[in-house]
Amino acid sequence: MVEIIGSGKPVRLFAAGLHGDEWRDTSCILEEIRDTGESKGEGRGKSPKTGTLALLTLVSKGEYISTLDSHYYPGPGKILLEAIERLRPDIYIELHSYSKENFEKLAGKDRIRKIGVPAFSVLKEGVLIGSVSPHIRWKYFPKEALCLSFEVEKGNPASKELVSRFVKLIGEMESRDEFIEYLKEEFPEQAKKAIEDYRHFYGEL
Ligand SMILES: [Zn+2]
Repeated sequence: MVEIIGSGKPVRLFAAGLHGDEWRDTSCILEEIRDTGESKGEGRGKSPKTGTLALLTLVSKGEYISTLDSHYYPGPGKILLEAIERLRPDIYIELHSYSKENFEKLAGKDRIRKIGVPAFSVLKEGVLIGSVSPHIRWKYFPKEALCLSFEVEKGNPASKELVSRFVKLIGEMESRDEFIEYLKEEFPEQAKKAIEDYRHFYGEL
């Protein structure tokens, strides 16, 4: 179920627990946002200063199907896809988690050659940042939308803590450009790589 806090533009949609057991390390991040803060309106969560925050704390605990697989969004990701279609978010975040042994697969330079999508950028505390699946990026979001995936390292509390910080910050942000400015400031090298990948893969920014 999608829980909606606040109203109007920009619309932000954050989703966690997209497949398999990833909910174990990601759902709690969004639950914390939902359950804390001075409550306004419906008595849950803290409304962002502007616009809407829509939270989908759990998409699917079922079978692990990658979001790069065309069967994911119409299948286990159906409630997520419906939320995207209904809300048309300006800011869209997926929270994923990964096991250490898959680090190379996600962040290795040859990801683009092997599976056709750019490698994730490494922030710190094992947190990776990248775009979202091409299956939804262009069909549902305008170029100016901010679409991000964060990867939390499984079983690493510091990793979870950092993503929680990002999610709270983005929950108050107004635009993609505001996030890019933030990233340039805090993680200049990663920002450069993320922007280059984006240009390379998707054309102009
Ligand atoms: Zn995932």
